Amino acid sequence: MIRVCLTHDVDRVRKTYQYFTKTAKAIAKGRLSRAWKMVTRGFGETSPYWGFDIVIDIENHYGVKSTFFFLEESAKVQPLSPKSYKIALGRYHVNEPRVAKMMQYLDTHGWEIGLHGSYYSYDNPELLKREKTAIEEVLGHKIIGVRQHYLNWNENTWRYQKEAGFKYDSTWGYTRDIGFKDGKVIPFQPFSNNDFREIPLTIMDSCFADTENRWERLEEIIAEIDRQDAVLVINFHTNNFDEVEFPEYKKNYIRLIETLQTKGARFMTMQETYADIVGK
Ligand SMILES: [Zn+2]
Repeated sequence: MIRVCLTHDVDRVRKTYQYFTKTAKAIAKGRLSRAWKMVTRGFGETSPYWGFDIVIDIENHYGVKSTFFFLEESAKVQPLSPKSYKIALGRYHVNEPRVAKMMQYLDTHGWEIGLHGSYYSYDNPELLKREKTAIEEVLGHKIIGVRQHYLNWNENTWRYQKEAGFKYDSTWGYTRDIGFKDGKVIPFQPFSNNDFREIPLTIMDSCFADTENRWERLEEIIAEIDRQDAVLVINFHTNNFDEVEFPEYKKNYIRLIETLQTKGARFMTMQETYADIVGK
């Protein structure tokens, strides 16, 4: 039995400065019609980065449910650090009415909500706790899952996550490849004997798009998951379903689901998978 967890890191819900940076990049690459489409797409309510409706439609169509990791970023812009602009600008808050409403809708219709730990939270237990609480206040109940933004991690992260009350993490994965980081295929206990589990991330959208022979590689990965009775965890960011900016991603996501369904895979949320693993 192949178990599959579809997940979505919610890095952004609206397009802001990227109207300039991404359009400039498209022009520089000579992709003028794409650039034109980018600037003529709507702001705000019709933001190309609001991918929820597309994801919901796809998953309803295939009868599957996923896990969404929401981000409550609080990092500040540091004028001399260009990277900080990317992290701090254009962020959202989980208690914004439109975002909160979507979280509540997903939560009450069979999807799972977890925390996408903010950029610095992997090394800051207090911050991690605050962000978890912010989500729980929106939902009105506890959450058990986390994945760190940028897959940031150090040797303390799992302990901080457990202390904050999380039951599982899904940060262990490659940022530039697909497959099993350090050969870890099966969900594992990161430290000592307790109920906290790492459920490794196997395939991320951007890495998948960049992988040569991706569909052949996928077959190998699925075979290994099946052999080891592991879990195939897939992450497609909600803001990457905009087909103007990311022409392939939505198609890849659909084909992944179809491929796995023809193999009789069992689709579960991370929370259901966690219960499955720990209950064994
Ligand atoms: Zn992220």
